[in-house]
Amino acid sequence: MWEYAPAPESRDIANLKPNYRMFVDGEFVEGAGEPLKTVNPGTEEVLAEVSTAAPADVDKAVKAARRAYDRVWGKMPGSERAKYIFRIARLIQERGRELAVLESLDNGKPIKESRDVDVPTAAAHFFYHAGWADKLGYAGYGPDPKPLGVAGQVIPWNFPLLMAAWKIAPALACGNTVVLKPAETTPLTALVLAEIIQQADLPPGVVNILPGAGDVGAAVTSHPDIDKVAFTGSTEVGKLIQRQLAGTGRKLTLELGGKAANIVFDDAPLDQAVEGIVNGIFFNQGHVCCAGSRLLVQESVAEELLEKLRVRISTLRVGDPLDKNTDVGAINSREQLTKIQQLVETGDAEGAERWTSACPLPDKGFYFAPTVFSNVSQAMRIAREEIFGPVLSVLTFRTPDEAVAKANNTPYGLSAGIWTEKGSRILWAAQKMRAGVVWANTFNRFDPTAPFGGYQESGFGREGGRTGLEAYLDV
Ligand code: NAD
Repeated sequence: MWEYAPAPESRDIANLKPNYRMFVDGEFVEGAGEPLKTVNPGTEEVLAEVSTAAPADVDKAVKAARRAYDRVWGKMPGSERAKYIFRIARLIQERGRELAVLESLDNGKPIKESRDVDVPTAAAHFFYHAGWADKLGYAGYGPDPKPLGVAGQVIPWNFPLLMAAWKIAPALACGNTVVLKPAETTPLTALVLAEIIQQADLPPGVVNILPGAGDVGAAVTSHPDIDKVAFTGSTEVGKLIQRQLAGTGRKLTLELGGKAANIVFDDAPLDQAVEGIVNGIFFNQGHVCCAGSRLLVQESVAEELLEKLRVRISTLRVGDPLDKNTDVGAINSREQLTKIQQLVETGDAEGAERWTSACPLPDKGFYFAPTVFSNVSQAMRIAREEIFGPVLSVLTFRTPDEAVAKANNTPYGLSAGIWTEKGSRILWAAQKMRAGVVWANTFNRFDPTAPFGGYQESGFGREGGRTGLEAYLDV
């Protein structure tokens, strides 16, 4: 056996248990897969052992979800479903402190983010969708839109609880049942959400949560009795799933990677822009699909902006995710840390100028100091590829047309930011940019009422808002 790492207090608040089991047909059960050990990226110590699914378990879960759909959930009036979904939202709030600490332990994100963003936004998604459950006839998809059946959902490790909420809440509101697989490095809050679902008395089989690695994900997404697949993760795996599902007639939505441009024009309020740039790339250690990882700044203000930016970044505190003062926490895994380091080395090799914040880093744990590359050209890997870490690539432009052309010079298209005092320029650029979300004078703002999703290789389909319901209805 191993030693449990976190300080006793945080372990107690997180209600951390030595073992977690998967959730199938309303019960917590052992899976037939090889158990996995989930690690605290802030200390490198093992948090808990988690039971994982084998393909036969996935099959059991899909059968349970089908039964629940046919017998109960698919027939239940929306006003009844709403009560269950509302209860889930309330329980997330009640258990918010536990969820926030557990999320920071398992994922490495700063506690102030899990407390102020992940947990409340997860609750908000359930509240919002509880409101839709009995009003689907007003969603614009016909007077009595039908659910699809059983949804197979696979999520990544960057917002473990929030991504589970994004997936489960609309599926339930529309009358579908769910088989969800959380990411292998962050299964814990999804399993606490399973406890909440049990506490909320959802009929057995309506939601099933099965931890495991990519093979379990593939068993879910390729299962023949799944009616709809929703995947959030890398573009590489998304394309694989798309090929897998081709010709099956099953519905698919993909939320994939990004390489967002954050454009600062010369008339922008620079101090405000600096805050937005910092938030855009260092929020959640840059493990954000819509992170503002490419800063495009107008040449005439580039030097001034970069100077302000370095001063601001030097004040960021990097370290213990559970410290309330931490701004940048731990990288989620050693594997991700290595990926970031390797991509950063290509930036050096290709001639970009690297600046790193001189902040002290803890001895143990996976940490990477906030880094800014200037003199970046569009051809460099650090300008083209998703780094998924606290690394900003800075490019410059002279004219608004050039800014938009550079912003669009990417195979992705998830999000973008614009900083300017001119409203007309915001509308002009937002129209021209191929990005699912365009923020103006702000960044990384999420709200359950607003649809979110990408263009091009960032995927297709929308999550959130009225549009997001379409993914779970036969319209
Ligand atoms: P990943 O694609 O490696 O894994 C995502 C999930 O898919 C995990 O649960 C994994 O176990 C599972 N998986 C792996 N192989 C699979 C397969 N063959 N079939 C089915 N499932 C499989 O991605 P990741 O490293 O966990 O997450 C980071 C990526 O996710 C980044 O590219 C990021 O941009 C993207 N992301 C996108 C959004 C969005 O909304 N667009 C949100 C968060 C993260």
